[in-house]
Amino acid sequence: METQIRKVGVLTSGGDAPGMNAAVRAVVRACIFYDMEVYGIYKGYDGLINDHIEQLNVRSVSNILSRGGTFLLSARSDEFRTEEGRKKAYKNFRKKGLDALVVIGGDGSFTGADIFSREFDMPVIGIPGTIDNDLAGTDLTIGFDTACNTAREAIDKIRDTASSHERLFFVEVMGRDAGFIAVNSAIGGGAVAMIVPEHNWTLESLVKRLRKGAANQKASNVVIIAEGCHLGSAYDIAEQVKQELDYYDIRVSVLGHMQRGGSPTTIDRVLASRLGVAAIEGLINGESKCMVGMINNKIVYTPIGEAIKTEKPLDEEEFRIAKILSI
Ligand code: ATP
Repeated sequence: METQIRKVGVLTSGGDAPGMNAAVRAVVRACIFYDMEVYGIYKGYDGLINDHIEQLNVRSVSNILSRGGTFLLSARSDEFRTEEGRKKAYKNFRKKGLDALVVIGGDGSFTGADIFSREFDMPVIGIPGTIDNDLAGTDLTIGFDTACNTAREAIDKIRDTASSHERLFFVEVMGRDAGFIAVNSAIGGGAVAMIVPEHNWTLESLVKRLRKGAANQKASNVVIIAEGCHLGSAYDIAEQVKQELDYYDIRVSVLGHMQRGGSPTTIDRVLASRLGVAAIEGLINGESKCMVGMINNKIVYTPIGEAIKTEKPLDEEEFRIAKILSI
């Protein structure tokens, strides 16, 4: 296959996500498979600015498939938000003789990639690596499935103690401004309700749902709160519910950063592997300024600006199911 691209740089940026290592491995091995050189850029955009860039080989990515986090390290780079910072980054990009950049990260990282590639007009391709699943142009982002499994596993354990003491638990999960982790872990964990940023649930409707559960002799209750939800934190909501339902013994658990860690699930490893290879094959075939994703099990390239700006809706069918099952 003919290609103009001989040297590819790859970085991981923003919040880490399980499966980022699998994506880097796929990028590295696909480059080498297609006779291209590949360079690891350490600590996200900071590595480009500070010239922390090293050539990788097939063995550089041995034994990382099953590891959470990212061996390339990640960072939130304030300097890259400035024109001066991006100029430095481009200087190092040219100095290393790189022809294209692969960015593994979330919407912030892609916003940076979009600006950078338009300023200096070079091929950039994004791979969606974020536990939040908040990117259009792909059904799933890398890390989302693992994060949901981690949250659901924690909810299962919380339920054991909730039922032993007939308690009401408010469990806060991650997801930034999106409710994808909340919805999935709520259905998977059998929660009585979930409060997500995308829906205007009121405190009254939550209290009504909980009253109904109590009337139906529900022995334990778990309510999932998405971190970005409009009613406040799990602690705020628990406090307000306590004023209304004094017969409940209420507890709060904020799952926090545990949701970012751990060995990626098979779904995340396969997704990361497919997207990593597709990113390189896309670059070879002239794709640029786009994000590679998977929709209905097919590889899709979406303009990066569209992937960032398009709102990804929650699946209403999942709400309907959750409502039926929480009686
Ligand atoms: P996650 O949502 O999983 O945390 P993310 O990629 O959205 O991942 P951010 O912290 O939002 O994480 O962004 C990562 C980095 O992308 C920032 O630290 C910054 O270096 C770069 N970036 C974000 N927005 C911009 C922007 N407007 N201009 C230039 N760079 C940006």
